[in-house]
Amino acid sequence: MRQPLVAGNWKMNGTRWEAESLAKAIKASEPDPAQVEVLVCPPFTAIDCVGEILKGSAIRYGAQNLFWEKSGAYTGEVSGEMLRDLGCRYVILGHSERRQYFGETDEVVVKKYQAAKRAGLVPVVCVGETESERAAGQTEAVVGRQIQALLQAADPQTWQGTVVAYEPVWAIGTGLTATPAQAQEVHAFLRRQLAAFDEAAAQCTRILYGGSVKADNAAELFAQADIDGGLVGGASLNAEEFLKICAAA
Ligand code: PEP
Repeated sequence: MRQPLVAGNWKMNGTRWEAESLAKAIKASEPDPAQVEVLVCPPFTAIDCVGEILKGSAIRYGAQNLFWEKSGAYTGEVSGEMLRDLGCRYVILGHSERRQYFGETDEVVVKKYQAAKRAGLVPVVCVGETESERAAGQTEAVVGRQIQALLQAADPQTWQGTVVAYEPVWAIGTGLTATPAQAQEVHAFLRRQLAAFDEAAAQCTRILYGGSVKADNAAELFAQADIDGGLVGGASLNAEEFLKICAAA
């Protein structure tokens, strides 16, 4: 009942020309939208040209971040309304790189979630523990705190569509992947948190796994009951590899 979603997080990579080439290559072998929804999130500078390339395709595009105000004196920031104006449907929020390098707290992620909803964007909210937190047995405490901050501020009436991504920080860009069983355990935990918030939300919410997803480990991960697709970083910069991951969903 949950349509799989595979999202590519291109991070701070690529000129406009490179982004266009990548988008063209993905579009040329576009996966069947009945099987998997595909999303690409280029850097802000390439959203417009990627959107042009993807016209007439079912492949969605979105951003990697937003600022919570609509407009004003916030030098360097981009609002949800501006992203909608570019045709974005989705926005990644609370990525661990934003939490780690830009000091984003749970409170900031909540404000951004609310701004995304206000602008009509679908938030992809990331949660995940660090290596030392996992080693200390704190995985559920950490992802539980992150998801609860969101759920306490969210309204079940407007939650629909929201995507959650479990991304263990120790697996992002490291080549280390959570085993399917490790990932499933946390996904099931997250779904229980969602069920306590709203049963319908628990059934409908897509929970993506992210952290060194590759063509050769995607199928096993996506086969888990509570894993509804992937958020893919490095491997999404290679069209062939990304399409193989999409095909595994
Ligand atoms: C990410 O940045 O969201 C991510 C999962 O990166 P990678 O696939 O490179 O680990």
